[in-house]
Amino acid sequence: MSTEKNKLTTSWGAPVGDNQNSITAGSRGPTLIQDVHLLEKLAHFNRERVPERVVHAKGAGAHGYLEVTQDLTKYTKASLFSEVGKRTPLFVRFSTVAGESGSSDTVRDPRGFAVKFYTDEGNYDLVGNNTPVFFIRDAIKFPDFIHTQKRHPQTHLKNPNAVWDFWSLSPESLHQVTILMSDRGIPATLRHMHGFGSHTFKWVNAEGQGVWVKYHFKTEQGVQNLAPDVAAQLAADNPDYHTEDLFNAIDKGDFPAWKLCVQIMPLEDANTYRFDPFDVTKVWSQKDYPLIEVGRMVLDRNPENYFAEVEQATFSPGTLVPGIDVSPDKMLQGRLFAYGDAHRYRVGANHQALPINRPHSEVNTYQRDGQMRGDNNGGGSVYYEPNSLGGPKETPANKPAPYEVSGSADSVAYDHHDHYTQPGDLYRLLSEEERTRLVQTIVGAMKPVEQDEIKLRQIGHFYKADPEYGIRVAEGLGLSIPE
Ligand code: NDP
Repeated sequence: MSTEKNKLTTSWGAPVGDNQNSITAGSRGPTLIQDVHLLEKLAHFNRERVPERVVHAKGAGAHGYLEVTQDLTKYTKASLFSEVGKRTPLFVRFSTVAGESGSSDTVRDPRGFAVKFYTDEGNYDLVGNNTPVFFIRDAIKFPDFIHTQKRHPQTHLKNPNAVWDFWSLSPESLHQVTILMSDRGIPATLRHMHGFGSHTFKWVNAEGQGVWVKYHFKTEQGVQNLAPDVAAQLAADNPDYHTEDLFNAIDKGDFPAWKLCVQIMPLEDANTYRFDPFDVTKVWSQKDYPLIEVGRMVLDRNPENYFAEVEQATFSPGTLVPGIDVSPDKMLQGRLFAYGDAHRYRVGANHQALPINRPHSEVNTYQRDGQMRGDNNGGGSVYYEPNSLGGPKETPANKPAPYEVSGSADSVAYDHHDHYTQPGDLYRLLSEEERTRLVQTIVGAMKPVEQDEIKLRQIGHFYKADPEYGIRVAEGLGLSIPE
């Protein structure tokens, strides 16, 4: 006897009489268009995929929490940091950047490290990477940069000429290129890597006083990486190796954890620091601004449904809460638009109302309608502002703190053009074995570049970071150092 629970229905809830045989004219067919169950089944199947993310298409996610371990109220009024011991639920999505949604996990690529905190004053998204810096520092270069990471328009192949042509003409990329080509370019698992907010953000306390802040998630599992040959073998044998590892670890109760640390910079230091602290191709030296441990992130629950949770999760650096604000970082400023826009295109105007994205706190807006409006759409409540009907009102205490700006409106680069000191510092902190592997990896990646001109331009950048770095890459490529 069938119960209500196991009775197959159509998507409109009517019982299905036959889910194995379509309705045909006689046993041979043809098939009749009146088989509306068949029509709906095929049509829905055609629409199972939403557009793939242009970047960060391949990902794995998990639920967890942040527990605060340090009183931060002197720096921020953000409710998630309001008291020691406070736990805020969160969802994390890790990803590779360049590959398609079916691509291999164990490639050399930065890893996305996106965290959605469901705070009691709305959602806060920290949408970072496993690297503290990025390849470019102005969002206007982003589409061009990503084109070079994707496929050639004619051959549909990856194109090392484009990759190195762009990098060699964009020396601000050198720091991130050095990290990417180092051992940390292929993490052993998603659990064995750090995470970074990468950009500079602003924290503001209840008195309206601000500080600049950078976030670091330090893995408690320890940093571990894959040797390139092991990674290549895994890419062939088990392209979902990282996805599987994360799911299995959580499934068996081996919950990965990260210490959340921050660097805090007084606002006025931004005018005098030796690097522009808003330039995302630079770090703040931990010797100048030491890490302060503020919390612990634990991932303890797997998604129940990949599509509903991981694929439909929409993260945006613009998803901010009172007490956390942006900085003038030009890459961040562009992302404030681009991420929300990507999700409106990919998932729809009401993406924030989906269960995985819906805040756990109350949402009261005057937004109405749009595709896939799944709730009651505000019912008959007041749908405009200002109104004299007692509708939700702004709370001026939650206005972002003002800050001074100066200069002319103009398309200009950051004032600081030193693209070499920090990659050089990184090169110099590597061991001899790490340097050897770094150079081998770069040489292997640059060998397929057809034009010597591109290779020589890039060698010049390595040389300026550290002469030894440039000389070793040049030797590996059989070229001499350009004048
Ligand atoms: P510190 O000596 O205080 O810190 C060095 C940092 O480098 C540590 O966070 C360390 O991470 C990290 N590191 C070590 N090996 C690698 C690697 N192969 N790839 C990426 N990161 C690595 O020095 P500074 O803060 O003055 O920075 C010096 C250089 O270190 C910078 O120019 C930058 O390239 C790099 N770096 C700096 C970071 C920062 O936020 N200041 C963050 C990451 C890198 P761990 O402690 O886990 O070993």
